[in-house]
Amino acid sequence: MADFETPELKDYPEIPHIQVGTMAHSKPFVAKEQFQEPLGFPGELVDNWQQVAYDKMEELTGKYRSLAVFLDSCVKCGACTDKCHYYLGTSDPKNMPVARQDLFRKVYRRKFTFAGKYFPKLVGAVDLTEEVLNDWYSYFHQCSQCRRCSVYCPYGIDTAEISMAAREVMDSIGVGQKYCNEIIAKVYKIGNNLGLPQPALADTLEGLEEDIEDDTGVTVRLPLDVKGADVLVITPSADFFAEPHVDGLMGYAKVFHEAGISWTLSSYASEAANFGMFIGSYENMRKVSLRIRQAALDLGVKRIIFGECGHAWRVAYSFLNTLAGPFDFLDPKYPVPQHIMEFTHDLIQRDALTLDKSANDDMVLTYHDSCNVARASRMGPRPGGQFTLPRDVIKASCNHFYDMPQDTIHEATYCCGGGGGLLTDDLMELRVKGALPRMEALKHVVENHGVTHMAAICAICKSQFAKVMPYYGFQMDSIVSVHQLVSNAIVLGNKQ
Ligand code: SF4
Ligand code: SF4
Repeated sequence: MADFETPELKDYPEIPHIQVGTMAHSKPFVAKEQFQEPLGFPGELVDNWQQVAYDKMEELTGKYRSLAVFLDSCVKCGACTDKCHYYLGTSDPKNMPVARQDLFRKVYRRKFTFAGKYFPKLVGAVDLTEEVLNDWYSYFHQCSQCRRCSVYCPYGIDTAEISMAAREVMDSIGVGQKYCNEIIAKVYKIGNNLGLPQPALADTLEGLEEDIEDDTGVTVRLPLDVKGADVLVITPSADFFAEPHVDGLMGYAKVFHEAGISWTLSSYASEAANFGMFIGSYENMRKVSLRIRQAALDLGVKRIIFGECGHAWRVAYSFLNTLAGPFDFLDPKYPVPQHIMEFTHDLIQRDALTLDKSANDDMVLTYHDSCNVARASRMGPRPGGQFTLPRDVIKASCNHFYDMPQDTIHEATYCCGGGGGLLTDDLMELRVKGALPRMEALKHVVENHGVTHMAAICAICKSQFAKVMPYYGFQMDSIVSVHQLVSNAIVLGNKQ
């Protein structure tokens, strides 16, 4: 365990007293040249970095009107100050959303507003000094871009967009984050975040087929690179090996098997995650997305379905068509893209799956709404489907389900603490402390309803919870995939 104190779980959430600078030391490793250059960024801090940063800020505020509006419209009402899980978990006032925004805003004011140019002290405007850049690097890597604060802001100011812009400015001067940029470079080179080449992927899938057969006596395929399959499944590479992700992948395979619909994974686009979003780079987000289009064309599929991954679904739902479309070569009967939850939910509605809920009777479940799914996407044909569909699928697969308190779920959900490109061990203290509000909500249903497990549909949430739950006294395997519950409950060979 790392060298910091895990916050105490209280019965009721408490807004902490501020402790100035308590997380100033928290910084992810800086990306070296070999992780910067494949993404089109300078390998190290450029000589004229201040001017390059100002130019980038001008470009971004010109290109993204929302960014300029967010920077101009904050009235310092304070409604967002206690809404960020990182403030609640760390007490550092710079983790209040408005203070985080102000790190960017005060430089923007100095360079791009009349008052900031001529009366900087009056309006809190400052130059981008080394000290300010240092604060940017620290605190814009303490924002998981979860958008919770924007729900409570009367002006809808989205700190996530400001944090993405700040990261893009830093990348443009050669100060990128190792974790995200190394991963994006791996996707370009090999096809997935893990750097898992085609033969290793094929072996892994074969192994999973054997596991399912040993367990059920039924041959269920996990096909790879099958030309002419109906459905291309794009899933986070964590689904290929990590727990509990892999149990979810086996669940998708069983659902396709029962539905009698041909499907395939792709070794070229073997990654749903798109870390281009975390670093605020539409160009890198587009390059990652184009791999999906290419795989769909090469394999000649009719539909694209995304597996359980929060930010991947945000990118897919909000940007896939504009970044990599048009997808006019796919079957127009189906939405592009679709989520695996929509697919399974539809089969359940049509009574096309037999689910034995008692198979999950060893668990009492709750559900964690992943922030990117909850606040940056929809699912299915009706508003709010991103909340109801996963819960419907869980309730169809198990007998015991209880939601966490209302102010911690749906659009008010708390981030797991590891989203937005922060799921790296060099940020372990931040991750543990940022998980506090979710852990308190979990404690509530554990104590009041005997909840034993929490389900999620995000690869990052699952990895984050498996790691941080033990810090709070929960078992690491008390986080489960939603399709893991489906996998346990599904009765194979029952439907024609
Ligand atoms: S987007 Fe989320 S992590 Fe970032 S400041 Fe807002 S609440 Fe905090
Ligand atoms: S809630 Fe909105 S307007 Fe109020 S301080 Fe926060 S960002 Fe500014």
